[in-house]
Amino acid sequence: MKKLKPCPFCEAEAKMKFIGNEHTKSRTIEVKCSNSECRVTMKNGAIRFGFDWLEDISIKAWNRRAKLKPREVLIERNER
Ligand SMILES: [Zn+2]
Repeated sequence: MKKLKPCPFCEAEAKMKFIGNEHTKSRTIEVKCSNSECRVTMKNGAIRFGFDWLEDISIKAWNRRAKLKPREVLIERNER
């Protein structure tokens, strides 16, 4: 099973919730931070595709981390 990275804000464990089923046409996956003081939530929905596909894109989206550039570089560029 693929694993979710911890919450990008507080590093608490992330949990995944499946909403809907194969009989209903809409399926939603909610990835949620388990820290009640943080409450970061990411939702992904699908109509035509099943939970396998949705789980895959949800894990990829949650696990993606932006590579932030140092702020000084951006300021230099703006001054040119
Ligand atoms: Zn969190």
